[in-house]
Amino acid sequence: MIIDGKKESALLRQEIKEEISAIKAKTNKVPELTVILIGDFAPSKIYVKNKEKNSEEVGIKSKVLKYSKEVKEREILNKIKELNEDDNVSGILVQLPLPDQISKKKIINAIDPAKDVDGFNPINVGNLASGYKSIVPCTPMGCLLLIKKIEKNLTGKHAVVIGRSNLNGKPMAQLLLKENCTVTIVHSKTKNLKEECLKADILIAAVGVANLVQKDWVKNGSIVIDVGINKEGQKIVGDVNFHDIKDKVKAITPVPGGVGPMTIACLLKNTLECFKARLI
Ligand code: NAP
Repeated sequence: MIIDGKKESALLRQEIKEEISAIKAKTNKVPELTVILIGDFAPSKIYVKNKEKNSEEVGIKSKVLKYSKEVKEREILNKIKELNEDDNVSGILVQLPLPDQISKKKIINAIDPAKDVDGFNPINVGNLASGYKSIVPCTPMGCLLLIKKIEKNLTGKHAVVIGRSNLNGKPMAQLLLKENCTVTIVHSKTKNLKEECLKADILIAAVGVANLVQKDWVKNGSIVIDVGINKEGQKIVGDVNFHDIKDKVKAITPVPGGVGPMTIACLLKNTLECFKARLI
């Protein structure tokens, strides 16, 4: 089975839209997402445009604050403080990567954890690691939603996550642990990568190496989730050799059209959750 991320994303966005519309009818309030975009890195500009468009489609008020790539760190920190204190702002997102003069760590730490729609603030990271309620990073959340469309109960499954980034691998592993999976995290220093992957009932590749995962790395009947986005000439490909593997496994995400569309839907979901928490 090929998992249709576009379809699942559209369904989730429709649910979000309906919920926002119902809240608006009762309270006359809607969520507000403020995105800070620094510099003119082309992919960042495209991501931010997409976030803006998708937000507006579901009824989230979206504001993009643009800064030149020379902007001082202090100016951004002051703006974040102002947004933290603004009751109308439900969510704050600072588009990464940042220019060299700005510390990613300081920026992420400065965002109010209750408005941290990316789920990168250490308070949210710690809550997730402790098994408490938290804002979860969008891409791993999207992956889990896709996995659960295929298999509702993940208890006892062996999940292997390739990659240990704060953005993808680590939160993915935490989410799967919460689902009672036995979790292995592998990375660039892992010995016997193929043998580790072969143990997976659920394999998540979040690496950034085109076609790293080959047919003889996956178990028959497993679920394979491909987070990777890699350029191969003019084509975008994942970390998994999709065409060779698709008939061997139970379910697999394509690239594009798999995890990517879920990431944006989960950002909208996080924004709605932050908004709802402030309504009470
Ligand atoms: P990252 O920070 O570069 O982390 C990559 C991880 O992969 C690291 O842990 C690294 O190991 C590991 N790795 C690298 N080469 C390896 C190899 N040959 N064998 C085993 N492990 C290896 O990347 P990221 O931010 O997590 O992103 C991963 C991929 O997902 C990228 O292609 C990115 O574009 C994509 N992405 C997709 C979405 C989406 O919505 N679909 C969202 C975000 C990112 P070490 O820790 O040992 O270096």
